[in-house]
Amino acid sequence: SNLPYIVGNWKMNGTRSMLSEARAIDRSTQRFPGVQVAIAPPFTLINAMREASQMIGVGGQDCHVEASGAFTGDISAPMLRDAGADFVILGHSERRALHGETDELIRDKAEAAQAAGLGVIVCVGETDGERDAGNAESVVSAQLDGSLPRGENGADKLSVAYEPVWAIGTGRVASTDDISAMHSIIRGKLKDVYGEAGDEIRILYGGSVKGENAPEILAIDEVGGALVGGASLSAESFLSIVGAAA
Ligand code: 13P
Repeated sequence: SNLPYIVGNWKMNGTRSMLSEARAIDRSTQRFPGVQVAIAPPFTLINAMREASQMIGVGGQDCHVEASGAFTGDISAPMLRDAGADFVILGHSERRALHGETDELIRDKAEAAQAAGLGVIVCVGETDGERDAGNAESVVSAQLDGSLPRGENGADKLSVAYEPVWAIGTGRVASTDDISAMHSIIRGKLKDVYGEAGDEIRILYGGSVKGENAPEILAIDEVGGALVGGASLSAESFLSIVGAAA
């Protein structure tokens, strides 16, 4: 699809009382048929959110590489699918930093998720130290080399999210020029890896996206949508971003 893709990542936020926000987002999404909207709630809300909504995609925030087994506390891709998820976010910087996820693991997860029929959003992004050292582009390129799924249909239902770590939850947004430059590099890499199919993969920006800055960010060449954390937790703020994409 080449519709703009606006995805809310609820992270470790949300109990059942938050389903009313999802319902409000779902209802209003009907007004924006030109935008693809999705939410990745905590695992515990996936099934209820799927049942409570019609328009929006519902996804997980991680999955295990294996389909089942002795992996206490983990959730597999087929389980996500069974719960009603359409997609999964993989390799978020919080998983990379706080759970030690490597590019290789993220790639294995992405391939497992695709095999289970899930769309995949692979996240990449440099830290501020890496950017200050002039290494932002090489870091992101290496993350893509290591973590993109390489199966036969690897480009299917695949998106990439560029989320500079220093822009996440900080209110600091990358500059238009920096976003544009990085998204072009990502596009080039996707074409190298997937050939023509690499042209169709949406590249989302993430990091302090809000209603106020969304129009400018979404207008950047090669920005195919947004991955939204904090501002996805209320229907009002999330819908202002959806509206900016319409
Ligand atoms: P914020 O929108 O809260 O900065 O979070 C971005 C993010 O990490 C989305 O995955």
